[in-house]
Amino acid sequence: MTITAEQLVATIDELALAQRSVMVHASLRSFGESVDGGADAVLDALLSRGCTILVPAFTAPEFAVVPPATMRPARNGIDYTALPDKVATRSETDACYTVDCRVINSRMGVLPARLLARGDVRRGLHPLNSFAAVGPKAAELVAAQTPTNVYGPVRTLADANGAILLLGVELNRMTALHLAEQSAGRRLPVRWARAADGRVIMVETGPCSKGFPRLEPWLRPLARSARVGGSRWSAYPAKETLAAAVAAMTADQTVTHCADRDCLACRDSVAGGPIGPAPLG
Ligand SMILES: [Zn+2]
Repeated sequence: MTITAEQLVATIDELALAQRSVMVHASLRSFGESVDGGADAVLDALLSRGCTILVPAFTAPEFAVVPPATMRPARNGIDYTALPDKVATRSETDACYTVDCRVINSRMGVLPARLLARGDVRRGLHPLNSFAAVGPKAAELVAAQTPTNVYGPVRTLADANGAILLLGVELNRMTALHLAEQSAGRRLPVRWARAADGRVIMVETGPCSKGFPRLEPWLRPLARSARVGGSRWSAYPAKETLAAAVAAMTADQTVTHCADRDCLACRDSVAGGPIGPAPLG
């Protein structure tokens, strides 16, 4: 059996996604059978129903640089004594991120890579954690992203009745929940990259997301679900979902801590995130 474009479109309609902005996280393997046209068919089906598609198109660790001694906040989810193995991969002369660089971490998956290959793609201005979009509202969504407002596109999507669509993946992939962490009072961890003018700047990033499936009891009731082949699609209304996640975290900040009790990223994030020493930017 092969999954057809008609099946994809029917499912998009079943989930009431037409004409909306949709943040997509997908595992094509989850379908269990081949999708006629692959990731591009999924993108085309959404676009054919008037959707704008937003995806994380992160470049990191590409473009990351070693933090200068004056830009090392405490409680930042990083062990500064272990830097050489972690982020010290780029030299002083390496290239800077640009919105048309086409670099993407292969771990983001095939769907973001295919979206980024499209001629009309728009991409946000964040050297490590950029978002990319295609469709009618693409420019508006990605314009909300800056190095110090990493999840601006998610906020814009949520404010416009957008949805978050998980195709065969779980809540640990729902990047938008990092915005809920921020709204629940946590500062986001910072990392370091070179601005277009060559200066090293601190940029917002997301902490550990492995514990997000623990939010399932609060978020699952908000989702509409459908099946395509072996793949479960779950469409979450972004604004309501983020609000429910904020409420859960505000009641108990430890709710998002992952199963690794020694996880530095979770420990520091749950405690409130980075402290000092320099402002972002
Ligand atoms: Zn963790």
